[in-house]
Amino acid sequence: MKRPITPVSRRQVLQSLGLGAAVLAFIRPQAFGALPPSSEATLQPFTLPPLGYAYDALGPYIDAKTMEIHHTKHHQAYINAANKALESRPDLRELSAEQIIARINAFEEPLRTTLRNHVGGHLNHSFFWKILAAPTDYPAGPLQAAIAGRFGSLDAFQKEFTSACLARFGSGWCWLIVKDGELDIITTPNQDTPLLERCQPLIALDLWEHAYYLNYQNRRYDYVQAFWKVLNWNTAEALYTAGGSL
Ligand code: MN
Repeated sequence: MKRPITPVSRRQVLQSLGLGAAVLAFIRPQAFGALPPSSEATLQPFTLPPLGYAYDALGPYIDAKTMEIHHTKHHQAYINAANKALESRPDLRELSAEQIIARINAFEEPLRTTLRNHVGGHLNHSFFWKILAAPTDYPAGPLQAAIAGRFGSLDAFQKEFTSACLARFGSGWCWLIVKDGELDIITTPNQDTPLLERCQPLIALDLWEHAYYLNYQNRRYDYVQAFWKVLNWNTAEALYTAGGSL
C-alpha cells in the first residue's frame, strides 16, 4: 500500500496552500484511536491547544485559577517534556502523539516511560478540555440512551463513575470508554491513556489533585459531582455517534 503523506509534510503543503487548521484536522490521518478534532496540537512539535472557552466559564464548579494553572502550567509542562525528549530523535519527528502511543512498546527505556507519561499527558489534557463546557442543559441523545442500557440509568452510571473515581488511589484518570462496541468505565494511573489499551475515550475526568485542589482540597467526591455540571455532552454524544472517531 502506498504510504500516505506524512503529517508534517501534509501540514507544510496545507500551509503553502493557505488552508486552515480546521481543514487540516479533517483530513489528518487518524491512524490510531481518535481525539475530537484537535488542530495541529498533536503533531510535533506539540503545542498547547486553546480551551475554546474562557478560564472562568466553568465557574463555580471549576474555578478560573485552577483552569488557568492547569492549562498553562501543567498541560504545558507535559508538552515541554515530550518535545524535549523528542528533540534529539529526528527519526520520530513525523509521528503524531497518537501514533507514538500506538507504538509505545517499540521505544527503548527511558524514552518509553517519558513518552508514556508526557505524550500521554498531552493527549489526556487535550481530550479533557474538549469534554468540558459551561453548564448547559443537554437533550438526551444516543449515548445517554446507550449508557442507560448499559448501566441501568444515567444516575446509576454517574454513581458507578463516581465510585471508580474514588477508588483510584493517587493520581490518574477516570474514563467512559467504548471498546468493541461496548461501553465501560475504567480508570488509569498517572497519565496513561485508554488509547494504550485500544479503548476510545468518550468522557474523561482528571483525578490529579492539581485539577481540583484549590477549590476542593481533599474533597474528590465533591469535585466529581461538580464535574457533571460542566460535562460537555455534545462532545461525548458526537464521539459516540461517530463511532469514536470524529
Ligand atoms: Mn491534569
